[in-house]
Amino acid sequence: MAGVRYQTQALVLRTAPLGEADRIVTLLAADGRKLRAVARGARKSRRRFLGCLELFSHLDVTVASRPSSQLERLEEAVLRDGHQAIRGELKRFTQACYALELCEAFTVEGDANTGFWKLLADVLGLLDQRALRDVELCYLELRVLQVAGLNPDFSACLGCGRRQSPRWYADRAAAGLYCSDCHQRIGPAHELGQAAVDLLRSLAARRLPAADPPSKLLEQASRLLRQLVDEQAGRVIKSRGQLDLASR
Ligand SMILES: [Zn+2]
Repeated sequence: MAGVRYQTQALVLRTAPLGEADRIVTLLAADGRKLRAVARGARKSRRRFLGCLELFSHLDVTVASRPSSQLERLEEAVLRDGHQAIRGELKRFTQACYALELCEAFTVEGDANTGFWKLLADVLGLLDQRALRDVELCYLELRVLQVAGLNPDFSACLGCGRRQSPRWYADRAAAGLYCSDCHQRIGPAHELGQAAVDLLRSLAARRLPAADPPSKLLEQASRLLRQLVDEQAGRVIKSRGQLDLASR
């Protein structure tokens, strides 16, 4: 059976060497599908995909899919936007890598979800201008979960439904919150204040605070979101290490 050739815009999520001459490129297509394609000759001849196969490059690609294989073939790539400004600053570069890895972790091969394309294109566009604020990183983490269809609910206690509590507690999976009275039933837990929970609620409602929240409050929210992301991804997001080093 013959394969199908098609053209699409795509963002480069990841590349890895394949043998002596080729590369495997993981792409996010404009319909939000993740695909993996072999770029033949990409290692041997630099001219073949000149400057195209760099992380977060925005490309026009021609891809041939083969019914017998999960791997597609990258036939042609033309650079639309290399996001060069992002590469010039370590903090922005590590934030972009983190955004890519988050999207890669939550996209499923062959599963179209335009939300991921929109989210990643928006983040890279913003990173062309400036680095993300810490609260925007929290927002990114939460948005990735939402776009993936996971909607963490911070609106009320999972035990009794109350909306205000002196302290809040999230269980290991961090998928919901318990109030001071109910938290005994979940064992060891992350502890948060009401202000951190209010911040999570605004972010979940897609409202970004205009001013940066106090760092202690951000830390509480961030710790919970990262736990939730890793739990849902089924692994630790690796690029977070570099991200934290670069933002010190
Ligand atoms: Zn409760």
